[in-house]
Amino acid sequence: MKNHKYLYLITLAFFGLSFVNIHFAILGVICMTIPMVLLQRDKKKTWCQGYCPRSNLYMTLGKMRKKKGKVTPMSFIKGNVKNVVLIYFGISLMIALMSTLQVALGNMAPMLIPRFLILLPISVAFPQLITLSGIPVWITHFAFRMFSMMMTTTLIGLSLSYLYKPRTWCTICPVNTISDIYIMENRKRSPGPSTQRKAS
Ligand code: SF4
Repeated sequence: MKNHKYLYLITLAFFGLSFVNIHFAILGVICMTIPMVLLQRDKKKTWCQGYCPRSNLYMTLGKMRKKKGKVTPMSFIKGNVKNVVLIYFGISLMIALMSTLQVALGNMAPMLIPRFLILLPISVAFPQLITLSGIPVWITHFAFRMFSMMMTTTLIGLSLSYLYKPRTWCTICPVNTISDIYIMENRKRSPGPSTQRKAS
């Protein structure tokens, strides 16, 4: 990763701002979109290699640790764990979008609390420094769903970085898995000059 020392502050700001007002959590959509836009533009992991605030947070905390973590399990690197995480993420995103639609249509009550791993509600009062009025409740519901996804993946990533290497989460992060699939498919579709020479 390039030497953008303070990118981790963006991650901290995301959670801090969500406690100021939960609607800031919708900024998480930007975090999910930019890596894909850069991947499509550059055909490489530009985001992961230089700009990811979450990875920067893990690296920064890793540098502060005295005791080294264990080696990353092979099941994370070569096994099915990354596929499970990708499927979980896909289901989680689908639930967030579909439930928001149902709330907007009036078919479902909004869920105005965060959940860990989709299933576990965190029922303590969510701190809010500023309350906004007049915002449609489906937007607030969506903001809580975004916060839940970001919180879940960040907490899992932090736990993994404590147990293993600082960037262990990156081995199973859905962005990384999608990027690998995209880059591989892109290479198959448009092989480089060396591959073309071999073929001829
Ligand atoms: S793999 Fe995920 S956490 Fe790691 S740098 Fe890429 S987007 Fe960030």
